[in-house]
Amino acid sequence: MQSIYLDHSATTPIDKKVLEAMMPYLQNKFGNPSSIHQIGRDAMDGVNIARAQVATFLNSKLDEVVFTSGATEANNLAIKGLIKSLLQQQNSNSRHPLHIITSTIEHHAVLEPYKELEEEGIEVTRIPVQQNGVVDYKKVKNAIRDNTVLISIMYVNNEVGKIQPISEIGRMIKKINKDKTKNKNTKHSSKIYFHTDATQAVNFLDCDTQKLNVDLLSLSGHKIYGPKGVGALFVKTHTPVISLQKGGYHENNLRSGTLNVAGIVGLGQAVALLKENVVEKNNKKIARLRNMLNTGIQKDIPDCVINSDLQTIVPSHAHISFLGTEGESILLALDAYGIAVSTGSACSSKDLQASHVLLAMGIDKEKAHNSIRFSLGKNNTVEEIQKVLKVLPPIIKKFRKISPLYNK
Ligand code: PMP
Repeated sequence: MQSIYLDHSATTPIDKKVLEAMMPYLQNKFGNPSSIHQIGRDAMDGVNIARAQVATFLNSKLDEVVFTSGATEANNLAIKGLIKSLLQQQNSNSRHPLHIITSTIEHHAVLEPYKELEEEGIEVTRIPVQQNGVVDYKKVKNAIRDNTVLISIMYVNNEVGKIQPISEIGRMIKKINKDKTKNKNTKHSSKIYFHTDATQAVNFLDCDTQKLNVDLLSLSGHKIYGPKGVGALFVKTHTPVISLQKGGYHENNLRSGTLNVAGIVGLGQAVALLKENVVEKNNKKIARLRNMLNTGIQKDIPDCVINSDLQTIVPSHAHISFLGTEGESILLALDAYGIAVSTGSACSSKDLQASHVLLAMGIDKEKAHNSIRFSLGKNNTVEEIQKVLKVLPPIIKKFRKISPLYNK
């Protein structure tokens, strides 16, 4: 059975061109890039090309790109590496608590490091989202305190695909920092650094770090048709981050460990494929298919709710609640037809609790439990969507017939 993959927010298939670029580094160019002989230098050449590709994509300097094992590590390094460094800078006699601002809809790879820091005495403010899932930038501004040192807001949410106002927040922080340097007596005495987890944005949106005014930005290979187990953190020059793992001083001494050369080459190739015109074309194609899916579902299945307004989300996502059903049952029934979807975030699909993102958006527990996340990608076809629209209505009908929660 030919499978239909509609779970690109969980991971993406490797692009053929990415795989081709990686293969030599899994075969004859196997060297350790730290070695100074030819085989090592060949491997380092691959890393250097990838670094240039990522830096071009981010509009950054080469040494502002730190390769990691993925976005989880990039987020941990950004957040804990910055705070650890700021704490070290503080005079041990004059320690004052540091304050961080984040949102309630972040990925666990951001929420958990913050929880850890909170247990160590760091103050954390979590900004709620509006009902449409967007972080209110004015609330972020109002939450800034004298001791705020870091603001971390994701660029695109992984569950509903909601785009957050990163450039607006970046501009606002830049202005506050500028005022602070001009007037030393202002309310805010320490510089505020800005981090964004751009993992789900890279495929669709401009990630120019200068336009976004970010100091730290995380991304991951496997969400952008690249390999798993590789990612990158953009660390703007003069951002005081220190490494969390010690060892061989790799990556500007920010991330020790022999480089995952083939993975890094794959990540570089994956971002190099994201040329502006290609992204535009893919975005249009994916949006067309996503809209076809939404329209078809709304036409053929009563009592379903689309959990986001389409104007403010990336083109890939369709997050839909089918009232009176269980998301897990729908997922398994579709799986039997070779159709892969998710019930929320794949990272938490083993967790039967309702998604923290949906609850934060004010969606009630029941609606959260009967929702499915379809996330489309560049290789999906009209025929695939037609097949989903054919098999889904009878599945929902069947479940509703036996559901005590649905009596229409
Ligand atoms: N942040 C977001 C928004 C994500 O969607 C994910 C992956 N689900 C991650 C971080 C973690 O990325 P990785 O799998 O590369 O560690």
